[in-house]
Amino acid sequence: MTSPGPQSASTLAELDAAVTGCRACPRLVSWREQVARDKRAAFRDWDYWGRPVPGFGPADAAMAIVGLAPAAHGANRTGRMFTGDRSGDVLYAALHQVGLASQPTSVSAGDGLRLRGVRITAPVRCAPPENRPTPAERDTCRPWLAQELRLLRPTLRSVVVLGGFGWQALLPVLAAASWRLPRPLPAFGHGTVVRLPATDSGPELSLFGCYHVSQQNTFTGRLTPAMLEKVLAAAATAAGLHPTGEESGPATAGEGAGRG
Ligand code: SF4
Repeated sequence: MTSPGPQSASTLAELDAAVTGCRACPRLVSWREQVARDKRAAFRDWDYWGRPVPGFGPADAAMAIVGLAPAAHGANRTGRMFTGDRSGDVLYAALHQVGLASQPTSVSAGDGLRLRGVRITAPVRCAPPENRPTPAERDTCRPWLAQELRLLRPTLRSVVVLGGFGWQALLPVLAAASWRLPRPLPAFGHGTVVRLPATDSGPELSLFGCYHVSQQNTFTGRLTPAMLEKVLAAAATAAGLHPTGEESGPATAGEGAGRG
Protein backbone atom coordinates (compact mmCIF):
# COMPACT_ATOMS: atom_id res chain seq x y z
CA MET A 1 0.00 0.00 0.00
CA THR A 2 1.36 3.46 -0.84
CA SER A 3 0.38 6.63 0.96
CA PRO A 4 -0.88 9.68 -0.95
CA GLY A 5 1.34 11.88 1.26
CA PRO A 6 0.55 14.51 3.88
CA GLN A 7 0.22 17.46 1.50
CA SER A 8 -2.78 15.87 -0.20
CA ALA A 9 -4.79 15.86 3.03
CA SER A 10 -7.13 18.81 3.51
CA THR A 11 -8.71 17.49 6.73
CA LEU A 12 -7.41 15.69 9.80
CA ALA A 13 -9.51 12.66 8.90
CA GLU A 14 -7.83 12.48 5.49
CA LEU A 15 -4.41 12.90 7.08
CA ASP A 16 -5.07 10.19 9.66
CA ALA A 17 -6.14 7.78 6.95
CA ALA A 18 -3.20 8.63 4.68
CA VAL A 19 -0.47 8.24 7.31
CA THR A 20 -1.45 4.66 8.08
CA GLY A 21 -0.30 3.69 4.58
CA CYS A 22 3.16 5.28 4.78
CA ARG A 23 6.17 3.03 4.14
CA ALA A 24 8.86 5.70 3.72
CA CYS A 25 11.31 4.38 6.36
CA PRO A 26 12.49 0.84 5.49
CA ARG A 27 13.99 0.10 8.92
CA LEU A 28 10.84 1.17 10.78
CA VAL A 29 8.48 -0.60 8.38
CA SER A 30 10.44 -3.80 8.90
CA TRP A 31 10.52 -3.40 12.69
CA ARG A 32 6.87 -2.47 13.21
CA GLU A 33 5.76 -5.43 11.09
CA GLN A 34 8.17 -7.87 12.72
CA VAL A 35 6.93 -6.88 16.18
CA ALA A 36 3.34 -7.30 14.98
CA ARG A 37 4.12 -10.82 13.75
CA ASP A 38 6.22 -11.99 16.70
CA LYS A 39 4.09 -10.31 19.43
CA ARG A 40 4.76 -10.33 23.15
CA ALA A 41 3.57 -13.46 24.92
CA ALA A 42 1.10 -11.52 27.05
CA PHE A 43 -0.57 -10.18 23.88
CA ARG A 44 -0.43 -13.26 21.68
CA ASP A 45 -4.21 -13.14 21.15
CA TRP A 46 -4.03 -9.55 19.86
CA ASP A 47 -4.20 -8.64 16.19
CA TYR A 48 -1.41 -6.06 16.29
CA TRP A 49 -1.91 -2.77 14.41
CA GLY A 50 1.65 -2.86 13.01
CA ARG A 51 1.33 0.36 10.96
CA PRO A 52 1.94 4.10 11.43
CA VAL A 53 -0.17 5.52 14.25
CA PRO A 54 -2.26 8.64 13.49
CA GLY A 55 -2.95 11.45 15.94
CA PHE A 56 -5.76 10.93 18.45
CA GLY A 57 -8.26 13.61 19.41
CA PRO A 58 -10.64 16.16 17.91
CA ALA A 59 -9.89 17.98 14.67
CA ASP A 60 -10.58 21.35 16.33
CA ALA A 61 -8.34 20.75 19.33
CA ALA A 62 -7.09 23.81 21.20
CA MET A 63 -4.26 21.87 22.82
CA ALA A 64 -1.82 19.25 21.53
CA ILE A 65 0.49 16.80 23.25
CA VAL A 66 3.59 15.78 21.30
CA GLY A 67 5.44 12.64 22.36
CA LEU A 68 8.25 10.72 20.70
CA ALA A 69 7.06 7.64 18.76
CA PRO A 70 4.70 4.67 19.25
CA ALA A 71 5.78 1.91 21.62
CA ALA A 72 6.31 -1.51 20.06
CA HIS A 73 3.72 -3.29 22.21
CA GLY A 74 1.65 -0.19 23.04
CA ALA A 75 0.43 2.00 20.19
CA ASN A 76 1.97 -0.34 17.61
CA ARG A 77 -0.33 -3.01 19.04
CA THR A 78 -3.49 -0.98 19.64
CA GLY A 79 -3.24 1.62 16.84
CA ARG A 80 -3.87 4.57 19.17
CA MET A 81 -1.32 6.98 20.63
CA PHE A 82 -0.05 6.04 24.12
CA THR A 83 -2.63 3.28 24.35
CA GLY A 84 -1.80 -0.04 25.98
CA ASP A 85 1.47 0.71 27.75
CA ARG A 86 2.73 2.07 31.06
CA SER A 87 3.56 5.49 29.65
CA GLY A 88 -0.02 5.86 28.47
CA ASP A 89 -1.33 4.72 31.86
CA VAL A 90 0.42 7.70 33.44
CA LEU A 91 -0.55 10.19 30.73
CA TYR A 92 -4.25 9.33 30.51
CA ALA A 93 -4.65 9.15 34.28
CA ALA A 94 -3.29 12.70 34.46
CA LEU A 95 -5.46 13.91 31.57
CA HIS A 96 -8.52 12.50 33.31
CA GLN A 97 -7.46 14.07 36.59
CA VAL A 98 -7.39 17.55 35.01
CA GLY A 99 -10.65 17.01 33.09
CA LEU A 100 -9.30 16.45 29.58
CA ALA A 101 -10.06 12.73 29.19
CA SER A 102 -13.35 10.94 29.75
CA GLN A 103 -11.73 8.05 31.63
CA PRO A 104 -8.39 7.40 33.38
CA THR A 105 -7.44 4.33 31.36
CA SER A 106 -6.60 3.73 27.70
CA VAL A 107 -6.39 0.09 26.76
CA SER A 108 -7.65 -0.24 23.18
CA ALA A 109 -8.92 1.86 20.27
CA GLY A 110 -12.46 0.70 21.04
CA ASP A 111 -12.50 1.38 24.78
CA GLY A 112 -14.73 4.48 24.51
CA LEU A 113 -12.10 6.98 25.67
CA ARG A 114 -12.77 10.52 24.51
CA LEU A 115 -10.45 13.52 24.75
CA ARG A 116 -11.80 17.01 25.39
CA GLY A 117 -10.09 19.68 23.29
CA VAL A 118 -6.78 17.78 23.14
CA ARG A 119 -5.03 15.95 20.32
CA ILE A 120 -2.16 13.59 21.04
CA THR A 121 0.44 13.09 18.33
CA ALA A 122 4.13 12.37 17.72
CA PRO A 123 6.97 13.43 15.42
CA VAL A 124 7.60 9.80 14.41
CA ARG A 125 4.58 7.60 13.67
CA CYS A 126 6.15 4.14 13.55
CA ALA A 127 7.55 2.20 16.48
CA PRO A 128 11.36 2.33 16.39
CA PRO A 129 13.74 -0.30 17.79
CA GLU A 130 14.64 0.59 21.40
CA ASN A 131 12.40 3.67 21.12
CA ARG A 132 15.17 5.41 19.17
CA PRO A 133 14.35 6.74 15.72
CA THR A 134 17.32 8.00 13.73
CA PRO A 135 17.60 11.69 12.81
CA ALA A 136 16.92 10.70 9.20
CA GLU A 137 13.71 8.89 10.21
CA ARG A 138 12.64 11.87 12.29
CA ASP A 139 13.19 14.17 9.33
CA THR A 140 11.41 11.84 6.91
CA CYS A 141 8.35 11.78 9.16
CA ARG A 142 8.33 15.55 9.71
CA PRO A 143 5.84 16.42 6.93
CA TRP A 144 3.11 14.38 8.63
CA LEU A 145 3.31 16.39 11.85
CA ALA A 146 3.76 19.64 9.94
CA GLN A 147 0.55 19.06 8.01
CA GLU A 148 -1.28 18.00 11.18
CA LEU A 149 -0.30 21.25 12.88
CA ARG A 150 -1.23 23.30 9.80
CA LEU A 151 -4.70 21.77 9.89
CA LEU A 152 -4.98 22.41 13.64
CA ARG A 153 -3.59 25.95 13.30
CA PRO A 154 -6.89 27.89 13.42
CA THR A 155 -7.79 26.52 16.89
CA LEU A 156 -4.47 25.43 18.39
CA ARG A 157 -3.36 27.54 21.36
CA SER A 158 -1.02 25.36 23.42
CA VAL A 159 1.31 22.38 22.99
CA VAL A 160 2.77 20.16 25.69
CA VAL A 161 6.02 18.59 24.48
CA LEU A 162 7.04 15.40 26.25
CA GLY A 163 10.82 15.19 26.37
CA GLY A 164 13.80 16.68 24.60
CA PHE A 165 13.49 14.53 21.46
CA GLY A 166 9.97 15.80 20.83
CA TRP A 167 11.08 19.36 21.54
CA GLN A 168 13.95 19.19 19.06
CA ALA A 169 11.70 17.58 16.48
CA LEU A 170 8.84 20.03 16.95
CA LEU A 171 10.66 23.36 16.55
CA PRO A 172 11.41 22.95 12.81
CA VAL A 173 7.89 21.63 12.30
CA LEU A 174 6.45 24.78 13.84
CA ALA A 175 8.64 26.92 11.61
CA ALA A 176 7.52 24.92 8.57
CA ALA A 177 3.91 25.43 9.63
CA SER A 178 4.42 29.25 9.72
CA TRP A 179 4.92 29.99 13.40
CA ARG A 180 7.68 32.53 14.21
CA LEU A 181 10.28 31.09 16.59
CA PRO A 182 12.54 33.15 18.88
CA ARG A 183 16.30 33.22 18.24
CA PRO A 184 18.27 31.58 19.64
CA LEU A 185 15.91 28.63 19.65
CA PRO A 186 14.57 27.88 23.15
CA ALA A 187 16.07 24.89 24.94
CA PHE A 188 13.96 22.07 26.36
CA GLY A 189 13.33 21.93 30.07
CA HIS A 190 10.59 20.65 32.34
CA GLY A 191 8.39 23.64 33.15
CA THR A 192 9.74 25.75 30.29
CA VAL A 193 7.04 27.91 28.66
CA VAL A 194 7.58 29.65 25.32
CA ARG A 195 4.96 31.86 23.71
CA LEU A 196 4.90 32.20 19.92
CA PRO A 197 3.06 35.26 18.61
CA ALA A 198 -0.21 35.13 16.71
CA THR A 199 -0.04 35.29 12.94
CA ASP A 200 -2.59 35.66 10.16
CA SER A 201 -2.94 31.87 10.24
CA GLY A 202 -3.88 31.47 13.89
CA PRO A 203 -3.73 32.62 17.53
CA GLU A 204 -0.77 32.84 19.90
CA LEU A 205 0.71 29.45 20.72
CA SER A 206 2.18 28.49 24.10
CA LEU A 207 4.74 25.68 24.23
CA PHE A 208 5.14 23.78 27.50
CA GLY A 209 8.13 21.53 28.13
CA CYS A 210 7.49 18.43 30.24
CA TYR A 211 9.60 15.38 31.02
CA HIS A 212 8.51 12.38 28.97
CA VAL A 213 6.10 9.94 30.62
CA SER A 214 8.56 7.08 30.07
CA GLN A 215 8.93 4.43 32.74
CA GLN A 216 12.51 5.62 33.20
CA ASN A 217 11.16 8.98 34.37
CA THR A 218 7.99 7.91 36.19
CA PHE A 219 9.48 4.91 38.05
CA THR A 220 12.36 7.02 39.34
CA GLY A 221 10.15 9.92 40.38
CA ARG A 222 11.83 12.33 37.99
CA LEU A 223 8.30 12.94 36.71
CA THR A 224 5.51 12.55 39.26
CA PRO A 225 1.77 12.59 38.54
CA ALA A 226 1.53 15.96 40.29
CA MET A 227 4.26 17.44 38.07
CA LEU A 228 2.54 16.16 34.94
CA GLU A 229 -0.90 17.36 36.03
CA LYS A 230 0.49 20.81 36.77
CA VAL A 231 1.86 21.18 33.24
CA LEU A 232 -1.30 19.78 31.64
CA ALA A 233 -3.51 22.12 33.68
CA ALA A 234 -1.39 25.14 32.76
CA ALA A 235 -1.50 24.21 29.07
CA ALA A 236 -5.26 23.66 29.26
CA THR A 237 -5.72 27.09 30.79
CA ALA A 238 -3.55 28.66 28.08
CA ALA A 239 -5.72 26.89 25.51
CA GLY A 240 -8.94 28.25 26.99
CA LEU A 241 -9.94 24.86 28.39
CA HIS A 242 -10.95 24.67 32.02
CA PRO A 243 -9.15 21.80 33.76
CA THR A 244 -12.46 20.77 35.29
CA GLY A 245 -13.77 19.92 31.83
CA GLU A 246 -15.81 23.05 31.09
CA GLU A 247 -14.67 24.95 28.03
CA SER A 248 -14.34 28.66 27.52
CA GLY A 249 -13.12 31.23 25.04
CA PRO A 250 -13.25 31.20 21.26
CA ALA A 251 -11.57 27.82 20.84
CA THR A 252 -14.64 25.60 20.91
CA ALA A 253 -12.85 22.30 20.99
CA GLY A 254 -14.99 19.26 20.39
CA GLU A 255 -14.47 15.71 21.46
CA GLY A 256 -12.82 12.92 19.56
CA ALA A 257 -12.75 9.17 19.86
CA GLY A 258 -11.17 6.24 18.10
CA ARG A 259 -8.09 6.96 16.02
CA GLY A 260 -8.94 10.60 15.41
FE1 SF4 B 1 6.22 6.99 7.26
FE2 SF4 B 1 6.74 8.35 9.49
FE3 SF4 B 1 6.50 5.70 9.57
FE4 SF4 B 1 8.64 6.81 8.39
S1 SF4 B 1 8.08 6.93 10.59
S2 SF4 B 1 7.37 5.10 7.60
S3 SF4 B 1 7.71 8.68 7.47
S4 SF4 B 1 4.88 7.18 9.05
